[in-house]
Amino acid sequence: MAGRRQLKRYREKRDFRRSPEPSGGGREPSGQPIFVIQKHAARTLHYDFRLEVGGVLKSWAVPKGPSTDPRQRRLAVPTEDHPIEYAEFEGVIPDGEYGAGTVLVWDAGTYRNLRAEKEGDGASMEQAIEQGMVEIWLDGKKLRGGYALVRTGGGDDRRWLLVKMKDEWADARRRPTSTEPESVLTGRTLEQIAREEVAGSSEDP
Ligand code: MN
Repeated sequence: MAGRRQLKRYREKRDFRRSPEPSGGGREPSGQPIFVIQKHAARTLHYDFRLEVGGVLKSWAVPKGPSTDPRQRRLAVPTEDHPIEYAEFEGVIPDGEYGAGTVLVWDAGTYRNLRAEKEGDGASMEQAIEQGMVEIWLDGKKLRGGYALVRTGGGDDRRWLLVKMKDEWADARRRPTSTEPESVLTGRTLEQIAREEVAGSSEDP
């Protein structure tokens, strides 16, 4: 279960009386670890790439979103750990709150740590992140196959790159962020979520 300390930054940034986001009571891991990619129309549109590691969702903001083309390197900036429950969060974070804007669950599924399976490596996800060299196999609805998340600079350079690995799921012609914009949870678009959530909240006293 996620410790209080791990989600401290997440909780400090948010007012859960105003934001519909989960505060994160902690949830026991169940079997294969999950990943989720949330499309987030905040001040600037980006995709939040999250991996279940040690009871929380390790998170990176990917401005252009993931690609299925191994030649495309996508900038990924680490953000604070999120609670596991966040993987099912879809809705509108109100104006004035941290991350204000609409959130859509763009892809979700489970993943495998490829380094843990490698002879002579065996790195855990915690070690892989610490080393800035993550290799995972995604089993999502839109994304499948190997992806590498690699930290580029040292010291204060906190930038990472998200790159599709070369395998049978690599496809330079697919543009899933453009052609498959809907939520894998509800089939809704960002606009539909925004409209429905606003309509819902206006009925509140
Ligand atoms: Mn975000």
